[in-house]
Amino acid sequence: MLKRVLIANRGEIALRILRACREMGIDTVAVYSDADAESLPVQLAGRAVCIGPAKAADSYLNQNAILTAAKATGCDGIHPGYGFLSENADFADTCAKEGLIFIGPSGSAIRKAGAKSAARSLMRAANVPVTPGSDGPVRTVEDALAAAKQAGYPVLLKASAGGGGRGIRRCDSAEELPAAYAEAKTEAMACFGNDEMYLEKLVLRPRHIEVQVLADRFGHVIYLGDRDCSIQRRNQKLIEEAPAWNLSDSLRKRMGEAAVRAAKAVGYENAGTVEFLVDSAGEHFYFMEMNTRIQVEHGITELVTGVDLVKEQLRIASGLALEKTQEEISLSGHAVECRINAENPAQNFCSSPGTVEFLHFPSGMGVRVDSCLYNGCTLSPYYDSLAAKVMAHAPTRLEAIRKMRRCLEEFTIEGITTNAELAYQILHHPAFVRGNATTVFLEEQLTALLDFSRKADDFDLSGGADV
Ligand code: ADP
Ligand code: ADP
Ligand code: MG
Repeated sequence: MLKRVLIANRGEIALRILRACREMGIDTVAVYSDADAESLPVQLAGRAVCIGPAKAADSYLNQNAILTAAKATGCDGIHPGYGFLSENADFADTCAKEGLIFIGPSGSAIRKAGAKSAARSLMRAANVPVTPGSDGPVRTVEDALAAAKQAGYPVLLKASAGGGGRGIRRCDSAEELPAAYAEAKTEAMACFGNDEMYLEKLVLRPRHIEVQVLADRFGHVIYLGDRDCSIQRRNQKLIEEAPAWNLSDSLRKRMGEAAVRAAKAVGYENAGTVEFLVDSAGEHFYFMEMNTRIQVEHGITELVTGVDLVKEQLRIASGLALEKTQEEISLSGHAVECRINAENPAQNFCSSPGTVEFLHFPSGMGVRVDSCLYNGCTLSPYYDSLAAKVMAHAPTRLEAIRKMRRCLEEFTIEGITTNAELAYQILHHPAFVRGNATTVFLEEQLTALLDFSRKADDFDLSGGADV
């Protein structure tokens, strides 16, 4: 079993990993930038090592500093969390070379899944349905125009190295394509240092449904149900739920089995997520990408399956076999998560860092809050704006939604502005309550939802009461 783990991340996910390690009797080493010297993981870890200044490129992405810290403190493993180095195949390889266990898949599996355009051909070969689009990358505007003509407009130009909803541009006609292509490439280069693009047909009014998988080194691969992450703004998730609602059992099973094939196709080990789009008829699903790491929204799967995914990651990385077979995975109840971000919806969602002057988190039966904030702490402008993940778990979907509304009524944070009120409005919207919201729901309803003067109770809930 792993004995001492370096947590190569920050914020709520660093704390989440630290908690799992402590419960398993694994020593922890936190790393931090100058901006995070007083953070909770630094205060709670067995040891803490400063790895550089605030800028992520100089600290949380500084591979040498992290490897040096791991060796100097006698760690045998490194947990990368999400973002930062979590999907960096070279880093995974270097860890292995240096005799450190990377708590995630091999560099080779990350490479296969992470090049999003190449992954599409691999998935097709593994009999996993993929979104119609280009075979491989589109390297010139002419390539892109040809692929778009074949797929049929509207299309999406997407960065092969993409993540976090960036490097994606919609394009409705051949006239629009050259400008969209140039814009997407520039954004991809700025975000990922790689501007390779590919092209997909835009699936109209789809739902984003993803499947959680676990794989060990003995070839066992299982799936732990699905999550609906359709409530998105600018391709970034805001509210997620598990299991996905209004999905036929047969489609659910086919998606779960396709996710297992996807994991096997890249030689996967550890926890991962296979993301799909489901068409508006609820009949077809298409592979979008595989995220080779723990996902932000992993907690709702934990609530409905009772499986601690981070502990499973640590067990798998230690060389142990999966504890459960597919038949032993059963789901109980329904869970909803709201990502509370430090951003101001009234000012085009500009980020709102600052000092937390007063904080009260909801609690009670079936409530979980994953957050790194405390009274008096400072939310740094250097990193992403996630302030807290509020999760509610109840026997039925409607009870989980009601519990989440209650949670947000209690949630209090002073000193920074958040999107909590917006989330509260969404939880009252009939399309959300009925469980048939798609990925365009939030953009379409945003103006109405931001009219906080209207009371949430004014939404017509008829048709939603039977959920
Ligand atoms: P999830 O799919 O787990 O919901 P997100 O897409 O919200 O994940 O991304 C989780 C975090 O990781 C965010 O902070 C995001 O900015 C970051 N992230 C995701 N993909 C990448 C990437 N390829 N490079 C850098 N950061 C990324
Ligand atoms: P990222 O790596 O940034 O997470 P994804 O490929 O997962 O990128 O796409 C992010 C989001 O963009 C999806 O959740 C979905 O809402 C939207 N999207 C991506 N591809 C398509 C598509 N072909 N048609 C419609 N929407 C899409
Ligand atoms: Mg994605």
